[in-house]
Amino acid sequence: MECVVCKHGTTYKGHVTVKLERRESIVLFKVPADICENCEHFYLDEHTAIVILNEGEKAIKQGAEFKVVRYGWVA
Ligand SMILES: [Zn+2]
Repeated sequence: MECVVCKHGTTYKGHVTVKLERRESIVLFKVPADICENCEHFYLDEHTAIVILNEGEKAIKQGAEFKVVRYGWVA
């Protein structure tokens, strides 16, 4: 798809690391995303965004200081 941020690039399927930080907790998510070849802005699909929120809240509630969550990550 066309990137709506820079309006120049098109996106390719790749993986990104998303950081969620809350108080003492840091949760890193390694998830699939559509990444702009030009400006590197990335787009998560709706389901992935929900997983990040849910898993992030769960890890924070469990008092995780640092956690890495892989979701849909295909090497
Ligand atoms: Zn772009």
